[in-house]
Amino acid sequence: MKQIEHTTLITVYEHNNELAAADAELLQRSKQAMAHSHSPYSHYPVGAALLLEDGTIVEGSNQENASFPLGLCAERTALANSAINHRGKAVKAIAVSVGTEVAAPCGMCRQALLEQESIQDTPIRILLRGGDETVYAIGSVKELMPLPFYSKNLR
Ligand SMILES: [Zn+2]
Repeated sequence: MKQIEHTTLITVYEHNNELAAADAELLQRSKQAMAHSHSPYSHYPVGAALLLEDGTIVEGSNQENASFPLGLCAERTALANSAINHRGKAVKAIAVSVGTEVAAPCGMCRQALLEQESIQDTPIRILLRGGDETVYAIGSVKELMPLPFYSKNLR
């Protein structure tokens, strides 16, 4: 028998002045993207911003529906926005902002981000900001996904 331990290193920034300028800008764009949220049911707007390899920033926001399962999270609308408008460009980082305490991507979004990370074969940094300006930074999607399910599992 053996045991496998999975650890996640999270860097916590409690003040904006601790952030690198590029991270602060990406987080600000994700906060601005909250304004485009369609969340009349949950009243929980979420904004996301992707930093692409060429410096482009792509936004997303959660889009809900009266038929609840049809709703899309901010992370996945940002990924779709990038796939359509900036095809083939690697994602260096994603910032996600909410108005409450820091919230991590849901399981479906982690899987979607993992797919992107797997395709581009470089890590995607994750920056999570809550309403009190606290920021959590994680080095890659893999750190949030122990025992991930990859396309290679289908072979
Ligand atoms: Zn999600």
